[in-house]
Amino acid sequence: MAITDQIKDLFDQLEVVQQYKLLKDLTERVRNRNVEIEDVRYCPHCKSERFHKHGKSLGKQRFLCMDCKHTFATKTDSINPNIRKKSQFEKFRRVWEDKGCVSIASMAKKIGISIPTAHRWLHMIISNKKGDN
Ligand SMILES: [Zn+2]
Repeated sequence: MAITDQIKDLFDQLEVVQQYKLLKDLTERVRNRNVEIEDVRYCPHCKSERFHKHGKSLGKQRFLCMDCKHTFATKTDSINPNIRKKSQFEKFRRVWEDKGCVSIASMAKKIGISIPTAHRWLHMIISNKKGDN
């Protein structure tokens, strides 16, 4: 029996509530995967679709464009290529996106980073958003 048929058989044994929950989980999982694939469909520098895998950086897959020779990774990587304080950066970005134009000093204090770091991160977020269209 094919594995998909086995899964369907098992699925039929579930209660309706469990079936709905499972379908929701699986849909979410497939959707997340599609986002990852979408991110590396073409080179962000020249839009070429001719690229191949080019090692890993910080545990994430990188790619080398065969046309313009630039390297790139997924969108989430390109926003912060050299940031070691990754969780603080994510927190910083959330505060920025929730509150909008609060002062850099108050954001730095809230996250526990220096003002120059806050300034640099803010520029990264803004420039990435512009390049995101
Ligand atoms: Zn390219």
